[in-house]
Amino acid sequence: MGRGIAMAYRQAIHFLLPPACFGCGDPLSPGESQVCAGCRTRLRTPSFPQCPRCRAPQGTGVSSARPCPECREWSEALEDARSAYVLVPPADRLVHALKYGGWPEIAGFMADRMDPLLDPGERTGSWVIVPVPTAPSRERARGYNQAALLARSLAERTGLKLANILERREGGGTQVALHRHERRANVQGAFRSADGARNRLMGRSVLLVDDVLTTGSTGQAAAEALVEEAGAKRVRLITFARSLPQEGEEGR
Ligand SMILES: [Zn+2]
Ligand SMILES: [Zn+2]
Repeated sequence: MGRGIAMAYRQAIHFLLPPACFGCGDPLSPGESQVCAGCRTRLRTPSFPQCPRCRAPQGTGVSSARPCPECREWSEALEDARSAYVLVPPADRLVHALKYGGWPEIAGFMADRMDPLLDPGERTGSWVIVPVPTAPSRERARGYNQAALLARSLAERTGLKLANILERREGGGTQVALHRHERRANVQGAFRSADGARNRLMGRSVLLVDDVLTTGSTGQAAAEALVEEAGAKRVRLITFARSLPQEGEEGR
């Protein structure tokens, strides 16, 4: 109840103020909606050449024939990952607005940008869209799951079926400030497939949707539950943004 009022209050304030850009906070010009023209042009797509598996931008001269150090050790359950943008301003501001700002309408703008990532072969009935769930306590506090909003908007745009068939166990804490190997251990086993997931999936393939790709540990754990418990044929991750690999990090 209190949460609903807080959300309504935030939305009312947002509605009463002159509309501001979700990316930079500047007032929007007439004809602009949600994100200003300047921020739209500043959104940065991952540059080429890219890793064939996680699409991380690779240095020129690096062979792009095999997976990069970032994703070489990924679980086989997660086939690959694609992201619309690199997690630098203003993409990070949009992610923040979706996650913490309580303005879930930005999900439509973000899903519009994720839609072109899909291959034609994925726009068929053999693929379903599954959001990465957040922990129940965090979803209660926030009032929504940001990945579910993106997944729903993407399903509306593509006509693909939305299947909320993953559940996240409580606990595990936040992934922020954890190193790569800690993240992997922190999230391993965090997901389970919902009752009846196997029947709903019936061997179909999954486009797993999340807001951000960091190390891929969340995507791997979710993909393992989808393949091993729910019988998904393939799992490919689609996110709005991805962080850039850290230079000098272990293994590079
Ligand atoms: Zn802007
Ligand atoms: Zn890679």
